[in-house]
Amino acid sequence: MNRVIKKTVSNVFALKIPRKCFCSQAVKVDASTNLLPSNEHEKKPIISQIIPEYDVAIVGGGMVGMALACFLACMPMTKQLSVAIIDSNPALSSGLCIKKEDPPDPRVSTVTPASISFLQEAGAWKYVEQNRHAYFKKMQVWDYTGFGYARYDAGDVNKDFLGCVAENKVLHSSLLSCIKDSDFKTTFYPSRLTSMTLNTNSMSVVEENTPSKEPSPAQGHASKLELSDGSSIYAKLVVGADGGKSRVRELAGFKTTGWNYSQNAIICTVEHTSANHCAWQRFLPNGPIALLPMGENFSNIVWTMSPTESNDRKSITEEMFLKDVNSALDYGYGPHPTSSSLGARDIFSWLKMDGTLSANEPFEIPPKAIRLASERMVFPLSLRHANSYATKRVVLIGDAAHTIHPLAGQGVNLGFGDAYSLSRVIAEGIALGSDIGEVNLLKKYEQERKPANVTMMAILDGFQKAYSIDFGPFNFLRGAAFRGANFVSPLKRSIISYASGERKLPIFF
Ligand SMILES: Cc1cc2nc3c(=O)[nH]c(=O)nc-3n(C[C@H](O)[C@H](O)[C@H](O)COP(=O)(O)OP(=O)(O)OC[C@H]3O[C@@H](n4cnc5c(N)ncnc54)[C@H](O)[C@@H]3O)c2cc1C
Repeated sequence: MNRVIKKTVSNVFALKIPRKCFCSQAVKVDASTNLLPSNEHEKKPIISQIIPEYDVAIVGGGMVGMALACFLACMPMTKQLSVAIIDSNPALSSGLCIKKEDPPDPRVSTVTPASISFLQEAGAWKYVEQNRHAYFKKMQVWDYTGFGYARYDAGDVNKDFLGCVAENKVLHSSLLSCIKDSDFKTTFYPSRLTSMTLNTNSMSVVEENTPSKEPSPAQGHASKLELSDGSSIYAKLVVGADGGKSRVRELAGFKTTGWNYSQNAIICTVEHTSANHCAWQRFLPNGPIALLPMGENFSNIVWTMSPTESNDRKSITEEMFLKDVNSALDYGYGPHPTSSSLGARDIFSWLKMDGTLSANEPFEIPPKAIRLASERMVFPLSLRHANSYATKRVVLIGDAAHTIHPLAGQGVNLGFGDAYSLSRVIAEGIALGSDIGEVNLLKKYEQERKPANVTMMAILDGFQKAYSIDFGPFNFLRGAAFRGANFVSPLKRSIISYASGERKLPIFF
């Protein structure tokens, strides 16, 4: 009988079938709606009353939700878990194939060395390397006042690179390929979470593994999730990886703190005459502009500005837009800084113990953009942080827990850190025979990630505010800070190590 039921729920979209399903007389559901695209389920008759149950339901199969699935797939303790991933993004069910020759996407992420090592450990990074990506060894940061600049080189911290830029679609499809190529039991639901009934009763994994104590929904140790296509599932642990407007966060009643910046980011891909190998960021009066290498002759632009400016710049001609970009990365708004600005060497010479490689590098002008290679997209920017990340049976990761300003390219990296930490906490819980939805276990994840995320958010918010002030003496101080970052070696090494995700707190000396 059990075999018949399992066969019934075999999913054309499922990579693997769920480990077990529970029949419930109390809850009527059209099983076919679990398994077919939402437009098809309307045509299908009700075939049985089945609600599948999973160990973990990941709501949101974006980069962070998929990273969690990968991390769970690669550990002996967690690879036995049955996992449902709920997301209506067609890329998940179609398994969208990315080709190297595809036109570059405007959405990219700068991935830190710490995130790269997590993804390597999970076996996902090799797929990223098969597609367009760009490791960068050097970075230059400066501002429009001409008072200061800082150059960073991976050699300053004896590393091969500072980070790697990859298109979001490449990261996403690499994580998907990694899961597909594993023998992990994952079922994709091409749908959206609409409501959730939390069940806060406990059950240990030891109990679950005892055949005579086979759990059932009636015993009540799993939460029920209802999806937009009318289907339902049960899960012992619900992970909210559903982005900044998280439905899981809302349904579970997590409060947030935050605000909207009166800024938008305009992003796009541009082409140069030759390859760019450096990450460039210039702070302008209305926000920073970044030019990030993407591989081949492409770079990505992330330009923060007022909403009015972003709307204007989205609609002006390509020629005018490229002129604006090239001016913003060159002489526009103010002069180039020079090595002698502020007499920086004299100011900081007393602190200089051993010089970094990059301290002597002169200021460079970024390569010119000659062509727009993608559409221009505009994103409103905000800061939002969930006051708590975990409650019984529900936990938040990625943008669902924290949304930050993109000026340092850290958002998805914090999310990868969350996913990695949560996967370890789940493994620990299984090893101890605990219920993986137990709040005391999930709070361990929160205790590990919250300080790291809050610190990064505070630093980036401080930067955003510091650059919202255009006032002579303050501009001078900011220039001095750039100079300090360039010439004071321990500070410079600490900044690189913190931005690389290798140090939890920015302790500078
Ligand atoms: C302009 C810009 C530039 C950025 N650059 C960088 C960078 O260089 N480096 C970096 O680290 N970060 C960067 N970020 C941040 C980064 O993009 C985000 O932190 C990251 O995308 C968050 O991933 P996520 O998976 O948590 O959420 P999302 O990417 O938002 O994914 C959430 C997923 O949940 C799904 N979903 C939503 N609601 C539901 C529901 N009810 N049911 C089921 N599924 C649902 C969505 O379809 C989506 O697939 C940037 C952000 C912006 C705006």
